[in-house]
Amino acid sequence: MKTTRELLLSRIRDVPDYPKPGVVFKDITPLLADPEAFTALTEALAELCVRYGATKIVGLEARGFILAAPVAVRAGLGFVPVRKAGKLPGATLSQAYALEYGTAEIEVHAEDLAAGDRVMVIDDVLATGGTAEASLELIRRAGAEVAGVAVLMELAFLSGRDRLKTALRGAPLEAL
Ligand code: AMP
Repeated sequence: MKTTRELLLSRIRDVPDYPKPGVVFKDITPLLADPEAFTALTEALAELCVRYGATKIVGLEARGFILAAPVAVRAGLGFVPVRKAGKLPGATLSQAYALEYGTAEIEVHAEDLAAGDRVMVIDDVLATGGTAEASLELIRRAGAEVAGVAVLMELAFLSGRDRLKTALRGAPLEAL
C-alpha cells in the first residue's frame, strides 16, 4: 500500500525545460486525472484547513483554483479566488510583487474577505514564495487573518519558505 505522499508524488510529472530552458515544470494534470490521488489530495488539504481553524479558503490562480475549490466544498467553507490583475470585475485590492525579471500583480475582490475571516491559502507549487507572500499581504489588507498556507509541493531549493517566514507571522506553511 502506497502512503498518500507516495501516491501524490507518483502522479506529478516533471517536464524539463518548460516553460523555458532550465525550469523543471511540476505538472499536476496526471494527479487531477486520477480520482484516487485527487481525492486523497483534497482530503489532506481539507484536513489542514480544519486543523488550523480556517473559515475561508483562498486559491491562487490558476492551478490553485483547481485544488482549492473541492477543498472548500469538502471543508464546508467559502472559496475566494486571488487572480492576476485585471480579471476580477468588482472592486479589488491589488498587490504587486517582484519576480526574477520585472513585477507581477494579483487581486482579490475587496468584499470577499473581511475582519473575522481566518484564511487558508492553497496552491499547487511554492517556488520563490512571491505569489504566496503577496496573497498574505492582500488577506491582511482586507482585514482578515491568515490561518496558513498549504501547497501540494514546495521547491525547497528556491527557498520560498524563507521568503515567506516574515509574512507568515508564525502561521503554518504546510507542503504535502
Ligand atoms: P512563486 O511565486 O515563485 O512561488 O511561484 C508560484 C507559482 O508559480 C505557483 O502558482 C505555481 O503554480 C507556479 N510555479 C512556479 N514554479 C513552478 C514549477 N516549477 N512547476 C509548476 N508550477 C510552478
